[in-house]
Amino acid sequence: MAYEAYKDESLGFATRALHAGYDPARHGGSKTVPIYQTAAFQLGDYDRCIRLFEGSDNGPSYARFVNPTNQALEARMASLEGGNAALGLASGMAAISNTLMNLACAGDEIIANKTLYSGSTVVLSDILADYGIVGRFVDDPDDISAYEEMITEKTRAIYVESMGNPLVNLVDLEALCKMAHAHGVPVVVDNTVPTPYLLRPFEYGADIVVYSATKYLGGHGNLIAGIVVEKGGFDWLNGRFPQFEKFYEASKEAIGEETLKKEMFTRRLRGRFLMDMGAHMTPITAFLLLQSIETLPIRMDRHSENALRIAQFLEGHPQVERVNYPGLESSPYHALAQKYFPLGCSSMLSFDVKGGLEAAKRVLEKVRIFDYMVNIGDAKSMITHPASSTHFFVPPAAREAAGAHENTLRLIVGLEDAKDLIADLDQALR
Ligand SMILES: *Cc1c(COP(=O)(O)O)cnc(C)c1O
Repeated sequence: MAYEAYKDESLGFATRALHAGYDPARHGGSKTVPIYQTAAFQLGDYDRCIRLFEGSDNGPSYARFVNPTNQALEARMASLEGGNAALGLASGMAAISNTLMNLACAGDEIIANKTLYSGSTVVLSDILADYGIVGRFVDDPDDISAYEEMITEKTRAIYVESMGNPLVNLVDLEALCKMAHAHGVPVVVDNTVPTPYLLRPFEYGADIVVYSATKYLGGHGNLIAGIVVEKGGFDWLNGRFPQFEKFYEASKEAIGEETLKKEMFTRRLRGRFLMDMGAHMTPITAFLLLQSIETLPIRMDRHSENALRIAQFLEGHPQVERVNYPGLESSPYHALAQKYFPLGCSSMLSFDVKGGLEAAKRVLEKVRIFDYMVNIGDAKSMITHPASSTHFFVPPAAREAAGAHENTLRLIVGLEDAKDLIADLDQALR
């Protein structure tokens, strides 16, 4: 049989970012993944229709459920992450909220840390509470035993971000996963800021990874998307998840026990939440993501390199009180960064300006290349004031605890020439 690069998992990350999960021979030879802009697909014969609906055939029937463009993206992401299955959704928040609903039912609890993205905090603390799912937040996200103390027989997952915002705090993932697994609890990681190029949480024991693909995966600030990836192998039948026991019994014959062991979470996520809650990713978005993932390794290298240079520049600047970036030796997370981020620490950093809110405002208004906006993960550099934007609805005490002080500014360092970015910040600070 001819060599098929698209399924060779021994290839390097950059090679798989270009080839994994897509076989042109099955798509008219088109080297670029085609955009299947259609609402529905021919079912073929009666028996195939049954196979599509029972789940023994992965093919497309109605585009909300499965689309071949999205399938190429999902296979590529599963490969890059080192997982067994992935699912594209309409936004990062759709990926996160659907994941949490797949994990927990009324009466269940999810443990999370306090430094989560604001949308995730609202889902866990407010929205799901109306449906009986309780989000419990640990006070000290750096302390693994603080998570352990919160575990009860109702716990269905521990949910963390691999890089917090805006402090860029890191969690000791390997220790967290080991502790959680000792209790039969899966670990879900929002890995939006590092992407699988800089960190693959499955290598440290995580079970599910979620992304806002809007950010570095998309990379150009031109789409909204989310992706969920499953490692496979977690024991969903360990007694904590009656909903998965039910799903297993109902689908083991059609889907097969071996496949369910590898991708039961994703199967149920697609079959229940994507299919009937409907947060579908359009195939044009999947196409744009496939395109931008082709250059993910070189973009993340440059993002990280530029961010480190800017962090070092700011650390030596007389107008700056402190800089938060785990790539700096002064960071309390530097030791964790050396273990988990040998290739670089991505491009989010924050710093406190001397002179309080007034000085911070002046910097925001004087920068010329940095854009004043709240997005992250664009190729173009951005600056924001978390206390009055991303953390606007967070109560003041929690805002302070999250490191969003009145004089804190957050930078997302883009792919421009570092010397231009440094000159821009220098003139604004002066
Ligand atoms: C932006 C973001 C989200 C939400 O993603 P959307 O694509 O905007 O829905 C979730 N988590 C993190 C860490 C984010 O930065």
